[in-house]
Amino acid sequence: MDLNTVVEVRDARDRGAWQTGDAWLGGGTYLFSEPQPHLRRLIDLSRTGWEPLRITTGGDLEIAATCTIAELSEYPKPAGWRAAPLFQQCCRAFLASWKIWNMATFGGNLCNSLPAGPMISLSAGLDGVALLLDQDGGRRRVPVADFVLGAGRNVLRRGELLRSVTLPARALAARTAFRQASLYGLGRSGVLLIGAVDPFDGTLTLTITASTVRPIQLRFPVPPNAEAVREAVENAVEPHEYFDDIHGLPAWRRHLTFRYAQEIRRELTQTQEAGR
Ligand SMILES: Cc1cc2nc3c(=O)[nH]c(=O)nc-3n(C[C@H](O)[C@H](O)[C@H](O)COP(=O)(O)OP(=O)(O)OC[C@H]3O[C@@H](n4cnc5c(N)ncnc54)[C@H](O)[C@@H]3O)c2cc1C
Repeated sequence: MDLNTVVEVRDARDRGAWQTGDAWLGGGTYLFSEPQPHLRRLIDLSRTGWEPLRITTGGDLEIAATCTIAELSEYPKPAGWRAAPLFQQCCRAFLASWKIWNMATFGGNLCNSLPAGPMISLSAGLDGVALLLDQDGGRRRVPVADFVLGAGRNVLRRGELLRSVTLPARALAARTAFRQASLYGLGRSGVLLIGAVDPFDGTLTLTITASTVRPIQLRFPVPPNAEAVREAVENAVEPHEYFDDIHGLPAWRRHLTFRYAQEIRRELTQTQEAGR
């Protein structure tokens, strides 16, 4: 769609001072999908030249904000990454057309902060940490699980840029389980839960997304029984935090959240016991 209040598209490498009405432009798949009457300038990130995906010397994976869903999906995952299947599972959890697949960016998905943001699910589920840059060159790091505050709301301050997300080597080596539901085939996620078992201390982490307005993370240092998981979910999610929109009623999302939490518990704790 034409954004007829936008008077300039500027290269992010030469952006000048941040002005009221500015917005970072990632792939533009959200920005160009509906009217944005408050916007005057788009600050285009596409020519930053940031390496989309990079393994650090410590074995962590750094994902640039400008990395597309297609690049993330195609990236060859090293054999030691037991969490590798999650990448494809989350990339496929998009309501994705060809345009979204090839244009939408990892960072744009996080910054859009929709409950159904599958890159939020992936990076929160794998203990990702976001690197944020402010207009004065200051940096801060925020766990992705704390980055999203509510539907369409996040911790970004005026003019702040999401530069990258780092997934720790330890999380990439975790055994994982994935459950997702949509009201219709290839639809937007109504519920998306990820379980991950720490390869060193066996802690089970359960990350609830899509059914809730923000990611909610639960950690179980010892393998939990059904009651412990039920109680933890009950205590962690306030009734008003189950998201309500056209993609699913809160009662349906709540029901599947409890069900998938138990399925993941069984899948990951039974194999843990068998492996001892
Ligand atoms: C048909 C269709 C289906 C969709 N399905 C889904 C879906 O299933 N799940 C979902 O979550 N979304 C969905 N979307 C919304 C959107 O396409 C995605 O959220 C996408 O990932 C946004 O990425 P982008 O790079 O295109 O972001 P953009 O449209 O470029 O930007 C989105 C927002 O993030 C800000 N932004 C972008 N990059 C940065 C950065 N690095 N730092 C700070 N701010 C930044 C922008 O200013 C803007 O506010 C869908 C959209 C359409 C049109």
